[in-house]
Amino acid sequence: MTYKKSIADLEQSKQFLAGGVASTLRAAMQPTPLFAESGSGPYIRDVDGNEYIDYLLGYGPLILGHAHPSLIGALEAAARGGVAYGLQHAGEIELARTLCELLPCAERVALSGSGTEAVMLALRLARAHTNKRKVVRFHGHYHGWSDAIFTSFPSADMKLSSSLTAAQGPVVPGTGGQSASSLDDIILLPWNDPAALEQTLKEQHNEIAAVISEPIMCNSGCIRPKAGYLEQMRSLTRELGIVMILDEVITGFRLGLGGAHGHFGIDPDLVTVGKALGGGIAISAVAGSAEIMKLIETGAVSHLGTLNGSTAATAAALATIRELAADDGAAYIRMNRITNQLTTGIRELMKKHGLPGIVNREGPVFHMMFIEERKVESFEAFSKRDGVLYAKFAALMLEEGVLLRPNGLWYVSAIHSEQEARKTLLAADRAMGRLL
Ligand code: PLP
Repeated sequence: MTYKKSIADLEQSKQFLAGGVASTLRAAMQPTPLFAESGSGPYIRDVDGNEYIDYLLGYGPLILGHAHPSLIGALEAAARGGVAYGLQHAGEIELARTLCELLPCAERVALSGSGTEAVMLALRLARAHTNKRKVVRFHGHYHGWSDAIFTSFPSADMKLSSSLTAAQGPVVPGTGGQSASSLDDIILLPWNDPAALEQTLKEQHNEIAAVISEPIMCNSGCIRPKAGYLEQMRSLTRELGIVMILDEVITGFRLGLGGAHGHFGIDPDLVTVGKALGGGIAISAVAGSAEIMKLIETGAVSHLGTLNGSTAATAAALATIRELAADDGAAYIRMNRITNQLTTGIRELMKKHGLPGIVNREGPVFHMMFIEERKVESFEAFSKRDGVLYAKFAALMLEEGVLLRPNGLWYVSAIHSEQEARKTLLAADRAMGRLL
């Protein structure tokens, strides 16, 4: 397999596009950041003519795969009527009503363009609602790259933060150029640690506006919350007058139509959703209690964005939700079946090749890692994985025609089939055989 044109395109791109890639993460792909030509269903083709089964899926949003006919139809129709108005339109009402019906915690929603913006808004709502300023967040979680929340993030594909690998450490800005004081209000805690949470909230509740958490630590090992942990977070925050925000930018519409909070039966004050919601078109939402969301109505909290609720974005979200909901959620049953086939097969292959490893899975998203530990239930344990070996595996899989994110997170779409899963496992068998 050759990547000649991708390598040449990167050099050309660097002359005009800062760094040659449009998002820092993309620079980490080995042996080179790929340039894509087209995508179709579960497949993506690069500019050298190589075709891959795609588990990167645009870093998560492409839950219907590439170029899904329903999405194309919805976007074509939206484009014919004008993609954005700067005025209100029926699609916004329909999407907002749909979100309120599907997401258990949603009484009102606000639409934005990215997960980062949704998190920014949720934090502002929490501060304005409580009249307090501090925010508890957790090691290994990622909530976008805005100044107020972006801490150094030890992900295999974030170059800047590779020096911080300890599970606990100081609150370090995630990037150069971020004011050090922007994180003064952040309290960084280990996740899945009920004692640390209880002690901090009880001691500092007078200052804490919000606790923000991924419901499943998808960004670092796809780790489930311990039994009772989210419930404890809910009851403590409620008791102490703190807003509980579940960041469902990955899990929303991926684990099910009711998101992770529906799946776990938790009632947060606010959730943020993005990625899968738009099937690949930029859209995100904050959803939550009418009492808190009312701050937008009164004007106490500004909610801005030129393209918020564009006809293109709302049409894409409605089409995606329609596909996911069709036939009583058959898409989820299928995604879970294929993911099961993949994760079971990968675990068997790890054993066959004598490669100690773990696959942590929740619905159609999983994290594969090479690691000596038997269980990975904390960020501390996750930090012990062999990221270099996994990156090598991802590069070998690329040669085998399978596109993976170099940090170990796999996404499965509603369009992947048993056939792609079988091909993937054969490829993984060969790649593992060449790994050591
Ligand atoms: N929150 C979580 C949990 C995420 O995983 C991400 C992105 O990966 C974000 C927020 C930021 O979303 P976006 O990249 O759309 O700004």
